[in-house]
Amino acid sequence: MTATTIRSMRDFTSASYDRIVPARQPWSGLIRKGQCIRIVDLEGQQAVDTLFYSAADSAERYCAQTTLATQGTAYIGAGTRLYSNRGRVMAAVIADTVGEHDTSAGACSREANTVRFGHQTRYMHACRENFVIELAKYGMAKRDIVSNINFFMNVPIRPDGELAIVDGVSKPGDYVEIAAEMDVLCVISNCPQVNNPCNGFNPTPIRVLIWDK
Ligand SMILES: [Zn+2]
Repeated sequence: MTATTIRSMRDFTSASYDRIVPARQPWSGLIRKGQCIRIVDLEGQQAVDTLFYSAADSAERYCAQTTLATQGTAYIGAGTRLYSNRGRVMAAVIADTVGEHDTSAGACSREANTVRFGHQTRYMHACRENFVIELAKYGMAKRDIVSNINFFMNVPIRPDGELAIVDGVSKPGDYVEIAAEMDVLCVISNCPQVNNPCNGFNPTPIRVLIWDK
């Protein structure tokens, strides 16, 4: 892995918002332009599926394809700007202690689970359901779910283009920090998956902090 890591200078005690998101649970919040959000992988190896929507118009939302193509990268990391489907910068990753985060492998769903792991997994909670629950608070639904960022998920892309979800490399306390460049709604699924190694087969809590500047 050649990616760089950048630590934040911000102190926990100066955050204006500080919550623990329990294992398997969703979270959402408004991040205003100039504010920044830190997502902390408290115990390590925990995938955090994340979406961004413009707070002014939710039809403008994070676009993985534009984000990767515009910056000529396959991953999200320190310095990555997060682009919308209208080609505008929504936010930027300003600190990252891991190095690389996936935005190609999508979110787990009950339907995908049955294809990958067998029909007995159909009734297991999945990220898609977390997103549906959380988006409903803002008048959005399944059709509003687009390709997401998977913070802390380790997805090597092989030379032939094939993806693999393998053991996460994040350690307890690793984090990403994202500065909003427009008012954005951030929607998170703290991934409940237990059928592949994206959460070390053991979903764990995360911590979300917001600073005003
Ligand atoms: Zn998931």
